[in-house]
Amino acid sequence: MKYKRVLLKLSGEALMGEQQYGIDPTRLVQYAQEIKKVVDQEVEVAIVIGAGNIFRGMHSDKMGIDRVQGDHMGMLATVINGMALQSALEGVGVYTRLMSGIQMDQVCEPFIRRRAVRHLEKNRVVIFGAGTGNPYFTTDSAASLRAIEIDADVVLKGTRVDGIYTADPEKDPTATKIPQLSFDEALSKNLKIMDLTAFTLCKENNLPIVVFDMNKPNNLFELMSGEPIGTVVSE
Ligand code: UDP
Repeated sequence: MKYKRVLLKLSGEALMGEQQYGIDPTRLVQYAQEIKKVVDQEVEVAIVIGAGNIFRGMHSDKMGIDRVQGDHMGMLATVINGMALQSALEGVGVYTRLMSGIQMDQVCEPFIRRRAVRHLEKNRVVIFGAGTGNPYFTTDSAASLRAIEIDADVVLKGTRVDGIYTADPEKDPTATKIPQLSFDEALSKNLKIMDLTAFTLCKENNLPIVVFDMNKPNNLFELMSGEPIGTVVSE
């Protein structure tokens, strides 16, 4: 496989499938099966999952909830998604550990870097819940941070489009896919791959990002096999 240790970022919205809110069980099982294919090839897989399907902190003020409180709610929601994904992975026979950036010992382990690395070495999928554990960050930032901490080879950003385009392919039919670009090119073209905090962490630590379509069957496996899938952003 092309990479030995990967950090897979999945948005909360992706878990909704065709629904408007919450978790689509079909999508969950589909993701678990796709992840299993690469785990079976002894790829070490860590996952950061978002919570856009349940709660986002930045919208909390409309509900009369302040931002820090809202962000904590968002982080807790990522643990709910993490638990769902953990169950789905276990359902297809993959060993997993859920680690949280906010301590909740009855539910999951606290994030301890050395322990996370040990789990990965034992071929357990490690799901990082509760983002960075801090408000005012996103799960994209958590993905970059955890990837650097565990010394991952790459951040795989699973989306519903198959890479980065010259324009939004869902709106502009003339948009073309960019197979590869540098961090500097992405910045100068103002391409929104991740939020700036997340992107800068990757750039400064020379951690490549691959944006790819996680919903296409076998795509993750093909990407890992070295096929030209998605868009690679690197130095
Ligand atoms: N969040 C946070 N700190 C973090 C990660 C996430 O406060 O380190 C909160 C924030 O409120 C965010 C929510 O958790 O809106 C869900 O994460 P995100 O919006 O990144 O989810 P995604 O868009 O990937 O579904």
